Amino acid sequence: MVRLDEVRRELEEVCKKAGRENEVSLMAVSKLHTYEDILECYSKGQRLFGENHVQEIQTKFPSKESRPEGMYLCLIGHLQSNKVKKVLPLVDRIDSVDSLKLLLLIEKELEKMGEKRSILFELNSSDEEQKSGFKSEAELFEAVDQLANCPHVTLEGIMTVGPLGSDVEKNRKAFIYTREVFRKVQKVVPTATILSMGMSGDYVEAIEEGSTLVRIGTAIFGERNYNV
Ligand SMILES: *Cc1c(COP(=O)(O)O)cnc(C)c1O
Repeated sequence: MVRLDEVRRELEEVCKKAGRENEVSLMAVSKLHTYEDILECYSKGQRLFGENHVQEIQTKFPSKESRPEGMYLCLIGHLQSNKVKKVLPLVDRIDSVDSLKLLLLIEKELEKMGEKRSILFELNSSDEEQKSGFKSEAELFEAVDQLANCPHVTLEGIMTVGPLGSDVEKNRKAFIYTREVFRKVQKVVPTATILSMGMSGDYVEAIEEGSTLVRIGTAIFGERNYNV
């Protein structure tokens, strides 16, 4: 049983308390969960899903046509250059674009395919080495500056993953920093409307600090099954 209804209620409650009713969307993060669980969420009306690994996407959703109607699938895990070609036909948006090099590669492939895609830029907001994401605001803005040369790509916003651990104030600091960068991006990129931050363990602070999209896995599906 997926806990989608419970999570929706909890989110509603948090949004209400934060004075942000109807401002936050929910992405169901289904990595390492079964296709049956995904379909159960879908049958309860969930349409937005996130997956981390290209290979898992290929297995679960081998083509866009094979997906349930109206499902919107995002890649939220780090994307290696050599997988760009494989993943582009299978997803609606790439939320984890974390370098200028990757942006230009995506643009090049989309041009060949004759298609367009939405993306988010991922910001590393916690100085953690093992995290992906642009390392600084300056690096991220170098990529923003190149968007004019990427007509097949639409930047829809910014994603960040909060710091490891459950230090609430540390999380909040990272989310505030990301929100400030997002606001600066919005000034130059009018299509940037999504601020994706907050997961099962830190979505309360993320919503309080302005998130418009939370990415929830464990709270909906339970612990991940590494044998899927
Ligand atoms: C796994 C993952 C999530 C979901 O994390 P939970 O703690 O299970 O809610 C969200 N965002 C990213 C980028 C992830 O990799």
